[in-house]
Amino acid sequence: MQKRKFLKPDLYADLLTDIDFDVWREKGIRCVLVDLDNTIAPWRNTQITDEGKAMIVKAREAGMVVALFTNAPEHRAREAAWNAGVGYFHSAMKPFPGKYKKAIRELGVSSSEIMCIGDQIFTDVLGGNLMGCVTVLVPPISEREFSGTKILRFLERFLAGRKLFFKKKPCPNSNK
Ligand SMILES: [Mg+2]
Repeated sequence: MQKRKFLKPDLYADLLTDIDFDVWREKGIRCVLVDLDNTIAPWRNTQITDEGKAMIVKAREAGMVVALFTNAPEHRAREAAWNAGVGYFHSAMKPFPGKYKKAIRELGVSSSEIMCIGDQIFTDVLGGNLMGCVTVLVPPISEREFSGTKILRFLERFLAGRKLFFKKKPCPNSNK
């Protein structure tokens, strides 16, 4: 499948868990290649986020195979894949096609049956589009965490403000 817009994902998702894997399975997607850094783990980290874990469960329930597909070196990819309980392709050199071709061979699927999920246009989206995969762009983890904690931060500021306000009140027994 040739695409004309190489830098445009097929889907934007605010959260990994927003992706409707059942619908994509019906459209013929059989495998999910998911990016590591800032997509299912914080940058340079191998601890998978709860959102990442939930996404893997959802994709599997829809009947898909999930694997990490990362530019990270093998030792970090292996550790993260172990934490996620999935297979992995390391040192992928996205957006270049070499590792995608290896993944296609090893998974025994065609490129149009693969969904590539990631947080970067010039690696995850471009690489997947060049291969004719379905591509999904998600915001990097820091932004998603921010939107999730925005309300809490607001409440924290509000309470901090109240504390300052109370401090200004003189103590009833004070002589000052
Ligand atoms: Mg990334």
